[in-house]
Amino acid sequence: MINHEDVQAALSARLDGELSALDDEVVDAHLAACAECSRFWERSLVLSKQLSKVDGQRDMVPPDLSDVIMAEVRDPFLKMEQRRALTLAIGRVALGVMAVAWALWAVKLVATGGEPDPVLASFAAVRFGVALALGLCAWRPQQVAGVLLIVGTMFTFTAGFAVRDAVLQTGEFQPALVFIPLLTSVALVWTWVADRGGELRRAWAHLNADPK
Ligand SMILES: [Zn+2]
Repeated sequence: MINHEDVQAALSARLDGELSALDDEVVDAHLAACAECSRFWERSLVLSKQLSKVDGQRDMVPPDLSDVIMAEVRDPFLKMEQRRALTLAIGRVALGVMAVAWALWAVKLVATGGEPDPVLASFAAVRFGVALALGLCAWRPQQVAGVLLIVGTMFTFTAGFAVRDAVLQTGEFQPALVFIPLLTSVALVWTWVADRGGELRRAWAHLNADPK
């Protein structure tokens, strides 16, 4: 009785240009009838193309193709790790963008001209400080938790005052005061989850490891 593992091993061997234990006709007949192995074959072809591109660069010894394919298909945590890396990259770019936004926001405060105002100058200094902290987080996501505490507190205060002003109708509502810290908090939480979520998943995977 032919099983999926044997067919998939034969398909990997075919891609590697090696001989396999099964006849080609047997493998092809199974492939035509089996959705699972068809998926495996399509995935393998895509990977094989990607690998041959990498192979063209020749920096290192190319890994054995069938090992890579098996790891890719069999290991859901590899896919999770790839997704995590992408999520983290998005968070870091967002933090970089927010760092620039805070720096510009600080400049805007002091560049409006007029008499030098020590209160405005200290507000600007705080914004520059946040810009630097966000830049640090974009560079070193491990630092996110501490910065999140500061920005989260600022956001809570500014949002609270904005709501009070809106309710009491004292002073004009400035959306930037709410939305810039809000977006920053979102970017920080996003990055924090991407950075630390992996540890939780690894711990979970460890606990659920299948002892062989
Ligand atoms: Zn099959």
